[in-house]
Amino acid sequence: MSDVDRSPITSGEVNQGRLNSRIPDGPLAEKWDRCKNELKLISPNNKRKYDIIVVGSGLAGASAAASLAELGYRVKVFCFQDSARRAHSIAAQGGINAAKNYPNDGDSAYRLFYDTIKGGDFRSREANVYRLAQVSSNIIDQCVAQGVPFAREYGGLLANRTFGGAQVSRTFYCRGQTGQQLLLGAYSGLMRQVAGGNAKVYSRREMLDLVTIDGVARGIVCRDLVTGEIESHAAHAVLLCTGGYGNTYYLSTNAKGCNVTAAWRCYKRGAFFANPCYTQIHPTCIPVKGDYQSKLTLMSESLRNDGRVWVPKKEHDLRPPSEIPDEDRDYYLERRYPAFGNMVPRDVASRAAKERCDSGFGVNETGKAVYLDFKRAIQEQGEEKIRSKYGNLFHMYEKITDENPYQVPMRIYPAVHYTMGGLWVDYHLESTIPGLFVLGEANFSDHGANRLGASALMQGLADGYFVVPYTVGHHLASRELKAVTTAHPQFDVVKNEAQDRINRLLSVNGNRSVQSFHRSLGEIMWNQCGMARNAAGLQLAMDQIRALREEFWSHVHIPGSGIDFNQQLEQAGRVADFLEFGELLARDALMREESCGGHFREEHQTAEGEARRDDEHFAHVAAWEFQGPDAAPVRHVEPLSFETIHMSTRSYK
Ligand SMILES: Cc1cc2nc3c(=O)[nH]c(=O)nc-3n(C[C@H](O)[C@H](O)[C@H](O)COP(=O)(O)OP(=O)(O)OC[C@H]3O[C@@H](n4cnc5c(N)ncnc54)[C@H](O)[C@@H]3O)c2cc1C
Repeated sequence: MSDVDRSPITSGEVNQGRLNSRIPDGPLAEKWDRCKNELKLISPNNKRKYDIIVVGSGLAGASAAASLAELGYRVKVFCFQDSARRAHSIAAQGGINAAKNYPNDGDSAYRLFYDTIKGGDFRSREANVYRLAQVSSNIIDQCVAQGVPFAREYGGLLANRTFGGAQVSRTFYCRGQTGQQLLLGAYSGLMRQVAGGNAKVYSRREMLDLVTIDGVARGIVCRDLVTGEIESHAAHAVLLCTGGYGNTYYLSTNAKGCNVTAAWRCYKRGAFFANPCYTQIHPTCIPVKGDYQSKLTLMSESLRNDGRVWVPKKEHDLRPPSEIPDEDRDYYLERRYPAFGNMVPRDVASRAAKERCDSGFGVNETGKAVYLDFKRAIQEQGEEKIRSKYGNLFHMYEKITDENPYQVPMRIYPAVHYTMGGLWVDYHLESTIPGLFVLGEANFSDHGANRLGASALMQGLADGYFVVPYTVGHHLASRELKAVTTAHPQFDVVKNEAQDRINRLLSVNGNRSVQSFHRSLGEIMWNQCGMARNAAGLQLAMDQIRALREEFWSHVHIPGSGIDFNQQLEQAGRVADFLEFGELLARDALMREESCGGHFREEHQTAEGEARRDDEHFAHVAAWEFQGPDAAPVRHVEPLSFETIHMSTRSYK
């Protein structure tokens, strides 16, 4: 390790309030090759001298861990589930995008790049998105080689379907279980490394904090969720692959365990948080049924390939759908957006559903639902064909609602689904803390203000299989990393802080459950920071969240102790973080005085109710820096410049 050039590289350097994203010079299409050619390397026989911690075993974490261990690094993987293969990625239904152009319908890396930039409402980095489109094809090859059973045409070629915001078919899928099959592929790769001794999985561990030494990420502190023991782990690099923060809203399509804790604790150690207000609200979810519901269910966007969205033309029409003739139906997406019809992006479809329901045309006993109707598709293609494409989704819908969607239209309504914001990373996926890399949904990198369907799996696997294996090596090769073990005093400092926090939670001994605080936070977030936001509501949300946080720390009740399996305690730690993070989300939304993608400020809309961006003042990434528990965070900006694409008003008409 002594023969390398140790040039002083810092990640996420802040210069006059602006962040250095380390985007390579040169033409867009050559940037990634250029970057790779200039990255420093670690020779194969030296790789085994380096420890790498990967927190998270979803698609981003499992793919990164398998790839790094395959390269020869010593990898430790952490997840809070009982098995790495239960990460939330397993829930992904509809598919994964790639610019293979198998259907020969005009797709290309450039077109995938363009659709993604436009879909994100011109609020993402050109260079990152272009790289994503470039490596998308490699992902499919990698997964096929692992045996992922993608759907195929009768001739053997992989099949494709269409997702929102695209006029080509580029989505690869395994029926409605794409995430599960992809995760099994990545997990198999990881377990191969576990068997070979290069990787070790620590399940039922929750990362509680990051340990930095000399300003560089050198390890983590986590809690063994079964024994309650607080553990330290040291490494030369830490990869955070801990997913999104949609559960800030309490009700979402995310798995119940999804949380912001790991990212939030890194933020408090110096990692900037980018664009926290960019939340995706998915148009097709099973509507909320009652006050005690704790989870919402997604009906995959793929269903809109064949399902038609409509509401009655007459306000408060109480007739059952079968008695409403075609001429009395408003296929409002087809009417408003003829070029894309039912396949408009999620932000557009969600807002359109809200507009119809707010105007009195919604269905359901609550008036907060629209129909997703397969009648025509079944007439044209036959029930068997529809069953072969979406059988498990129809089955799931029937199990939950007790209605047969082959016979009556599904009822759907928008719900929180994904978060585009996340920890700020540069082109290397490195955060503002050197040595801390952030992958998958946990970073902010590629989707701007709105993610297109089937692009999250693509991004997570691009980060894990094809980006970080290169860039981590550069970090290791170009920095002087002293030998550090968990005996370093900083580990004890952080461990004690984590233990103190647990003790503090347990000592409140109040009379209100963790869940009820979470539900109250969710109501504030949904009402004031949901599909429509305005300045007064956001200010109110910040005040309400602060008050709720205070109440939490004086009235929360956590049964049991900290020295054994205690899910209430786990949840309390996560809710405490949501209660801090929610305020940052609202603050970011308040400061972004424009509408873009999923961030819709009522003050900034066109006469037709479409989002109105303000490129002059807001064509930038907002990255927040923690200043201490009682101080307001500082907002830094990374300007977004578009060299290849002209920023235009987004239209799907
Ligand atoms: C219902 C549903 C369907 C979806 N369908 C699609 C789709 O068809 N196509 C698509 O592209 N996208 C889809 N998405 C989005 C996509 O599934 C996610 O964005 C993606 O899987 C996230 O992957 P990840 O690896 O970043 O995180 P995750 O899969 O969420 O994994 C997070 C990992 O981090 C671990 N973790 C978290 N916090 C801690 C902590 N503090 N300590 C230790 N470990 C921790 C967890 O244990 C887990 O292993 C869907 C999302 C949902 C909710």
